[in-house]
Amino acid sequence: MKKIQMVDLKGQYEQIKTVVNNSIQEVLETTTFINGPKVHEFQKNLENYLGVKHVIPCANGTDALQIAMMGLGLKPGDEVITADFTFAATVEVIALLNLTPVLVDVNPDDFNINIEAVKKAITPKTKAIVPVHLFGQCANMEALMDLAKEHNLYVIEDNAQGIGAKYTNSKGEKAMSGTIGHVASTSFFPSKNLGCYGDGGAIFTNDDDLAHTLRGIVNHGMYERYHHDVVGVNSRLDSIQAAVLDAKLPHLDKYNNARRNAARVYNKVFANHPNITTPKTVNGCESICDTCDCHVFHQYTLKIENADRDALVKHLNSKGIPCGVYYPIPLHKQKAYLDSRYDEANFKVTNQLVKEVISLPMHTELDNEQIAFITETIIDFVDNN
Ligand SMILES: *Cc1c(COP(=O)(O)O)cnc(C)c1O
Repeated sequence: MKKIQMVDLKGQYEQIKTVVNNSIQEVLETTTFINGPKVHEFQKNLENYLGVKHVIPCANGTDALQIAMMGLGLKPGDEVITADFTFAATVEVIALLNLTPVLVDVNPDDFNINIEAVKKAITPKTKAIVPVHLFGQCANMEALMDLAKEHNLYVIEDNAQGIGAKYTNSKGEKAMSGTIGHVASTSFFPSKNLGCYGDGGAIFTNDDDLAHTLRGIVNHGMYERYHHDVVGVNSRLDSIQAAVLDAKLPHLDKYNNARRNAARVYNKVFANHPNITTPKTVNGCESICDTCDCHVFHQYTLKIENADRDALVKHLNSKGIPCGVYYPIPLHKQKAYLDSRYDEANFKVTNQLVKEVISLPMHTELDNEQIAFITETIIDFVDNN
């Protein structure tokens, strides 16, 4: 059996080596390392893939979120609602811009932001909601967009984990994740579903004016050479990263399919186990059907009940099976984001999830022999401890 990895970037690279190498070589030959034609090509190709009017490439997913918030003109003191159960980048940029983060609880089954909790958190100061499409499945965008309309709020999709996922609303209409809110951010960190070989990110929007504003912000607030109209940042996707991404983009659907296939095998083995809960697919799909793009499984995350999750992690590692706990601490309990206004009673789900979740190896090169070894090892541990 091949060594099991959490993410197998080498195995994936081997399959597309020639295309990636040629694409990088082109950049080397032209030495257009910054803002070269590859960046523009990739931007256009991603716009087409997503069906979105504007993709604004930038340096990473955290910058993408920050720049999106800057572009919307959010002001210090404005409240921004986001999920308590996510990677810290989301709340970090809110705090960094002197906006007020308002963390709310998530759903126990799909791990995404809880709509009732959002409703309760809206005040006259609320200006935006940041749903995170956690682990590769969209938050309830329909309900969020309705709330946004009603209360005149912006919706900023953190799509770092959801690229390529489709969202289906109650009328059966489909849209790509990251194209539904007013603006969205994504990350091309190597382990993301569409990853480059360094850092990278992008912002998406269908709003022409906002796109114009964002293009200036990523470039020192410059709209005309050496005229700085607003305070901006320096956040660029470099041409070599764009070359890698442009070579990988045509494979994204295939990669996401491979992830879904692995998820299906995992689901089947763990189905009906009394102490193991498999991740629930929502948004118009109750199982991971053959044509379904509802979930792109950035992570495959189980909940382990009545067994020692931390001991399971140790046991798996000792058997050569890597795994992850995303996320071990709720954001509202992180030192940097403590706020005396938070009431523990409002974070019941996150407080429980951090004790139960475990994410299994998930990538495009996972084979059935590896999956069988992983699942047998887990079931054996849970049944006998
Ligand atoms: C990875 C990630 C980010 C940050 O992306 P970087 O490119 O590492 O800055 C933001 N939000 C979520 C949910 C992520 O998973």
